[in-house]
Amino acid sequence: MKTFYAATHLEHSPKEEFEQGRAAPTVEIPERVEQVKRRLEERKIGPLLKPKAFGDEAILRIHDSDFVRFLTGAYPKWREKYWNDDADAVPSVWPARGLREMRDGDIEKQLGSYCFDTATPIGKGTWSAAREAVNIALSAAEAVHSGERAAFALARPPGHHASGDVYGGYCYLNNVAIAAQWLRDQGRRPAILDVDYHHGNGTQAIFYRRDDVLFASIHADPAFAYPHYLGYADEKGEGAGEEKNINFPLPRKTAWPEYSHALDRALKAVKDFGTDILLVSLGLDTFEGDPICRFKITTEDYLRMGEIIGRAGLPSVFVFEGGYNIEHLGVNTVNVLEGFLEV
Ligand SMILES: [Zn+2]
Repeated sequence: MKTFYAATHLEHSPKEEFEQGRAAPTVEIPERVEQVKRRLEERKIGPLLKPKAFGDEAILRIHDSDFVRFLTGAYPKWREKYWNDDADAVPSVWPARGLREMRDGDIEKQLGSYCFDTATPIGKGTWSAAREAVNIALSAAEAVHSGERAAFALARPPGHHASGDVYGGYCYLNNVAIAAQWLRDQGRRPAILDVDYHHGNGTQAIFYRRDDVLFASIHADPAFAYPHYLGYADEKGEGAGEEKNINFPLPRKTAWPEYSHALDRALKAVKDFGTDILLVSLGLDTFEGDPICRFKITTEDYLRMGEIIGRAGLPSVFVFEGGYNIEHLGVNTVNVLEGFLEV
């Protein structure tokens, strides 16, 4: 299986995030991807390739141009205002009810308008890394569209929490959504299966009113888990998109038997949709040892997850998302790919 990778992500190295009311070291660190890369090389899964440079058109099919312009210039603008401080750009005030939403002007106003949390800092190398992650996802999509059975986009930063004009959850541009749209534009019928622990609220929002891309997500119930405000079972799509959005919120401590049941149901929906190419938002934070999540999926289970996805018999594009147990992340990720290849 071809993997697409670029060292550009190393430049995106946020120092801290704000969780539970205090600053803490972020878990979304460059070492995540480097661990997976090492494991891929160890297991000789296939070539590690540099992504092709795609133009901005593919991004602008999903993201608003004002939003992209903001992301491109946010860090320089932040530095211009806070020239004597090297902290990353993070919002501290939001246009909640009763306040005016203003996306232009001062960088503080823009950050609050475009970002929905305090966990997603913009630093010096954030934009270039996010931009390259899109190239990685598109290169993997192109490889599979051209006839490969599967490809892996080892993309970082992740993307599934970013919508058309809002970012958050360590995500800036929605890599998997951009790749799905690109495949749609080549005449394919894509479905996105999101197996990250967290609901892919950005991906859902992007395709919510559309009938040409199916979104199925298996995740921790937002009643207790991030992103809290989206990902419930009654969100089924709207208008043309009705019944084309399927959420499987699961309780704390979900283990393989219950998880695999949801996975079977999600893949049945994917088949029923008439999907001819599958995109997998591959998050490994469902792992029992993940430092920020609460599921009980084991290293062995990831092999079975890959097998079940493989048995769906669809050309598949795996796009890397979350997963924060550095020690086991490489093995868990590669287990999914090896399970898939064993079928
Ligand atoms: Zn996640």
